[in-house]
Order: sequence, then structure tokens, then C-alpha cells
Amino acid sequence: MAAPVFDHIAIIGTGLIGASIARAAAHFGAAQRITLFDKDEEVAKRAGALELGEVCRSAAEAAKGADCVILCVPVGALGVCTEAVAGSLKSGAILTDVGSVKAKAFEAMATHCPEHAHLIPGHPIAGTEKSGPEAGFDTLFQDAWCILTPDSGVQKDYVDKIAELSRFWETLKSKVEIMDAVQHDRVLAITSHLPHLIAYNIVSTAYDMESVDDGQVVKYSAGGFRDFTRIAASDPTMWRDVFLNNKTAVLETLGRFSEDLAALQRAIRHGDGDTLFEEFTRARGIRKAILEAGEDSDTVNFGRHTK
Ligand code: NAP
Repeated sequence: MAAPVFDHIAIIGTGLIGASIARAAAHFGAAQRITLFDKDEEVAKRAGALELGEVCRSAAEAAKGADCVILCVPVGALGVCTEAVAGSLKSGAILTDVGSVKAKAFEAMATHCPEHAHLIPGHPIAGTEKSGPEAGFDTLFQDAWCILTPDSGVQKDYVDKIAELSRFWETLKSKVEIMDAVQHDRVLAITSHLPHLIAYNIVSTAYDMESVDDGQVVKYSAGGFRDFTRIAASDPTMWRDVFLNNKTAVLETLGRFSEDLAALQRAIRHGDGDTLFEEFTRARGIRKAILEAGEDSDTVNFGRHTK
């Protein structure tokens, strides 16, 4: 096993992502010491019982002396968490996060991050619909992208820290990409945020129909609908914060999506089979390109690593 990237990491928030980082860092030897904090005492106790690391009584205590502090909390809590750890960040420490939105995440953390620490936001593109420390597993990040959205600073210290954090994620078996935060938010709006919004919406529409259709929606729910219900089981706090903090990109994407949907609606109404066939053929081609790029597989559960 290679030498640990960090002597000491602190993980604030021990849910699915925090617990998975703790497990992966221990499993792949990316950190020697792991301190943890979760604001929910019961969750923190469970993280301790799972032996994910040393559980501390406050975020400040967990962050004290850490080389890298990783905020694994909902996007809406990043500001308050940075404020909580700011006084304990040692000189040269990396402050990072795993939030699914990056421009607002940077703003929220930058307000409280002291100058002697290096703020490098991040987002591992890996997850499941489950929450809590028990949901975490050490191979969650394997072969998944981890996007880092550093500030535009080019000072040598900062560049070195970006390389260090990249090495950490690579040790957890992630593929690292550096991206502009606004660009990240635009891309994720269509690839992740909108699909979740659609899943939440289709499931609640079906639930409303269920009350008039006498249980038949659930009884005959086919594979397509079942996949939506799995996505719609995702944590409501996390997803509320994603939509509140990526408002511009999501609304723009939703506008384009609604126009395209209206075109399909029109084609159905007018019996325009050619348009439907062309659109479906084009979409099938996109799916083929994703498979060929190695970003998904045809195996059960789309080939994703799950617990
Ligand atoms: P999770 O399982 O719900 O865990 C989040 C944990 O953080 C909860 O235990 C929560 O406690 C705790 N927390 C909230 N505010 C806190 C604070 N101020 N101080 C300390 N702990 C606090 O959520 P998750 O799925 O790990 O998501 C965490 C982050 O990862 C989010 O920003 C999300 O956008 C990002 N992310 C998630 C996925 C995914 O698929 N789930 C993928 C990539 C990135 P309470 O429950 O008491 O609030």
C-alpha cells in the first residue's frame, strides 16, 4: 500500500458520503487518522459503533490539526459548517466539500474560510438513494469521476494542494477532473438535477393517480417506473438544497426540457409517428455512445457499484 496522502483528515457529516470516504480512506490507506463529527448525536454514535473514525463532540474539535477537512453535509449547511471549523483550521490545511452544487458552495465556504487555509470545493459523482452512516461503503467512488472546482488562483502553494487533494481522490479509486464551478453546475443540472426532479414529479403524479385507480399503478409498475421510485427515494434535505442552490442552471435546463416535451406532446396529438421515431432513435444513439464511452454498462443496476 502506498504512503497515506494525509496524516489526518476530518469528516464533518457522517452520512452516506462521509461514511464512504471514511471507509475508502481506511481501506485504501489514504489517511492515517480520521476524526468525525455529525450534528445528529445519534448518527455520530452509530458512526462510532461502525468504527469509521474517532468521533468528536464538535466540528471544531474534529477539524483541529487536520491536513484536510471534508464537509459532507447538505449544500445549505456548508456555510455554517465552515464557520464552525474556521477557528481550528491549521495553516496550510485543505478545506473541501462534496456538495452537488459548486458555485454557491464556493460562495458559502469562502465567506468564512480563513486565508491561511486552502479552499478547494469538490464533488464526487457517485452515490445511491440511501442515507446515513450504515449506507456508506468503501468502493463507492471506484471508477467514478470526482470533480474539483478550485478558485482561479495560480499560487504554487494552492496548485500543490489541488494536486494533493486530487491524489487523495485517486487513492480512493476516483478519476479526477478540474472544472469551472459554473460549468459544473450547468452540466450537473441536466445529467443529475433534472432527472431527480422528473423522478420526484412522476412518482408524485403516479401517487395521485393511485388514489383514483384503485392500487393498479403500484401493482403493475413496470421497470421504468420502478427506476424512478428508486431515484425519488433520495434524501429530501439534500435535494431541496440542490434545487435552491442551482436555481439558474436548473430553471434554464427545465425550460429547454419543457419545450422538447411539448414537441413530443404535439407529435403524439397529431399522430406524427415519424417525429417520435426519429427522436427515439436519436436518444437510443446517445445511450449507445454513453456505453461506448464506458460511463455505464448494460448489466443489472446499470453496472453501478453498490453495497
Ligand atoms: P446524508 O446521508 O443525509 O448525510 C449528511 C449528514 O450530515 C447527516 O447525518 C446530517 O445530519 C449531517 N449534517 C447536516 N448538517 C450538519 C452540520 N451543520 N454539521 C454536521 N453535520 C451535519 O447525506 P449524503 O448523501 O451523505 O450527502 C452529503 C453531501 O454529499 C450533500 O452535499 C450532497 O449534495 C453530496 N452528495 C451526495 C450524493 C448522494 O448520492 N447522496 C452524491 C454526491 C454528493 P442531519 O440528518 O441531522 O441533518
